[in-house]
Amino acid sequence: MDFESFFSSKLEDLKLEGRYRVFMDLERQVGDFPRAKRHVNGTTQDITIWCSNDYLGMGQNPAVLKAMHEALDKCGAGAGGTRNISGTNHYHVELESELASLHGKEAALLFNSGYMSNWTTLSTLAAGLPNAIVFSDGGNHASMIEGIRHSKADKVIFKHNDIKDLEKHLKAAYPARPKIIAFESVYSMDGDFGRIAEICDLAEHYGAMTYLDEVHGVGLYGEHGAGLAEREGLMHRVTIIEGTLAKAYGVVGGYIAGSAAMCDYIRSYASGFIFSSALPPAVAAGATAAIKHLKASEFERAQLRRNVAMVKAGLDRLGIPHMANDSHIVPVLVGDATKCKWISDYLLDHHGIYIQPINYPTVPRGTERLRITPTPLHSEQDIEVLLQSLDGLWKQCALSRAVA
Ligand code: PLP
Repeated sequence: MDFESFFSSKLEDLKLEGRYRVFMDLERQVGDFPRAKRHVNGTTQDITIWCSNDYLGMGQNPAVLKAMHEALDKCGAGAGGTRNISGTNHYHVELESELASLHGKEAALLFNSGYMSNWTTLSTLAAGLPNAIVFSDGGNHASMIEGIRHSKADKVIFKHNDIKDLEKHLKAAYPARPKIIAFESVYSMDGDFGRIAEICDLAEHYGAMTYLDEVHGVGLYGEHGAGLAEREGLMHRVTIIEGTLAKAYGVVGGYIAGSAAMCDYIRSYASGFIFSSALPPAVAAGATAAIKHLKASEFERAQLRRNVAMVKAGLDRLGIPHMANDSHIVPVLVGDATKCKWISDYLLDHHGIYIQPINYPTVPRGTERLRITPTPLHSEQDIEVLLQSLDGLWKQCALSRAVA
């Protein structure tokens, strides 16, 4: 086979459809977030990032950086092994204990990313529980879908956030079968909230366990930043809470929190946990510092809410259509891959505004969008520049306006 022509023709397909992924070459600047340098054609351009998942700017927080520097100087670079073979450092143990306490659970278990925590936990649970059946929300993230698929367990995909549809499927399943309901608290592309209370009601009624992805909720919602389930007083009703340390906590890594026996079971049986080297100790130290900071400080969350409200109100004033939601995510619908990419390129080249276009398969075809994520560190001036730039583009391209 001519491998090179195969790869080239597949890439050409993506380009023709306007959804070839461009990976921006960025250099983040300590103390200057959300500004960064973009490397392009041997030069650099100063840009403002409007699509970062460092939602609260914790990746630059002085307490986080200090903790990482100290741990790096104390322990060195890597962890030195898998968790079971010399790789468990005291910083990992402290972080797991901090995470368990954050979520009011007996234990927590760290993974190298949120993706790995979902993939590994769901695949291990669904494969291990005898004759298990997984009920998975239609809007779930790829990491959950892939984990469930890998388990080879029976699965039912219920309509996104549709409680009636979920109940219909639960009712139809043989009562004695172990059931897992997998869903999210904040759906990252539409920014809508999962129906945690109603799903917990059903789970309790039908004897299912609940698996809640709080990746876009942790750090951001609840009095201590434990997520949407904390804000709604529901953490104790959720069997397993999964989260990331790479978004609002600004570092990297993923985790689950739940009962001591469940965490020990995953720790003892999950290939994706056992056979991968542990996170560097400095990363664990930084994550612990970020969690502690956001447990005590409401400042970043309040500033974020203020900026999100300003962006949404500004878009409404200009009639620029964005998906309605109650979260910190502002999806501006374009509905066409080529147009979306063109707008994104124009914003970057003419205004130094970076918003990555979101295309299929991240979102369904025809719903391509600019996913704007304001942060507490965007200034009023930044917001004004963003709104004026979008307004100019909407005029220039005769893009449809929302009815005010
Ligand atoms: N779950 C959801 C809902 C996500 O959106 C993502 C990543 O964007 C992940 C899990 C994976 O988390 P991580 O980026 O830490 O691998």
